Amino acid sequence: MNKTLRAWAKPIRYLGHAVSEIVLPRCCGGCSNTLSVNERELCALCWRGLQEAIGNRTYCQRCGANLGEFAETKNGCNYCRDFRLHYDRLSRVGIYQGPLAEMIRKLKFQRRAHTAKFLGELLYQAVQGAQLLDQFDLVTWVPLHWWRKFNRSYNQAELLARRVGSLSRKPCQGLLRKTRWTAPQTHLSRKGRLKNVRGSFGLRRGIRVNGKHVLLVDDVLTTGATASEAAGTLRESGAEVCVGVLGVTKNR
Ligand SMILES: [Zn+2]
Ligand SMILES: [Zn+2]
Repeated sequence: MNKTLRAWAKPIRYLGHAVSEIVLPRCCGGCSNTLSVNERELCALCWRGLQEAIGNRTYCQRCGANLGEFAETKNGCNYCRDFRLHYDRLSRVGIYQGPLAEMIRKLKFQRRAHTAKFLGELLYQAVQGAQLLDQFDLVTWVPLHWWRKFNRSYNQAELLARRVGSLSRKPCQGLLRKTRWTAPQTHLSRKGRLKNVRGSFGLRRGIRVNGKHVLLVDDVLTTGATASEAAGTLRESGAEVCVGVLGVTKNR
């Protein structure tokens, strides 16, 4: 690029952004207000809310709950210590609240698929922060039942997994399939959730995972029943599994 072009590149790019925003105003992923040229995905206020959701870096490595600074995190917390979980470790972006929760809801229910790029970056940073990057050689996702995926037109967990795969330069592949329809988990207890998802995952045809170290990606973790069941299917076939999620719910 010659000197004159280089001098003009920045103002031209700025003008391009400004024009595209007049034609297609970008909205904050948290509060839906219009974003200014320099804001990405979230307005300044929602950025602060996001920092609050992800601010506490000490969390349980099994269920993702926030813990005190000096708490032992490896063997679980008071909430999850007695749970049988079929994965080794978990990393998460933050507590499912505020703008983080709003962005996840938009990704899931308002077809804002492009948000997955941004949220996938946050998840990659969380995985990196938890020193999990060298613990897996393959990235995959918790599958949806085909009918649910058909209605949503994509699986948000797959979009996130693909982003994490490309940022971590590791292959990302669909390993699991949903073998039957399961009712929404929202109003079920942990016991009910475990029962609801039991036996509902299988390996995709022709997939071998023996000896693989897999990062299993999902959007939200509530009691861990779904992630654990999916991880158990991989583990039964000889894989070691760690889990990466965006948000963990606060009250369980
Ligand atoms: Zn906002
Ligand atoms: Zn825990």
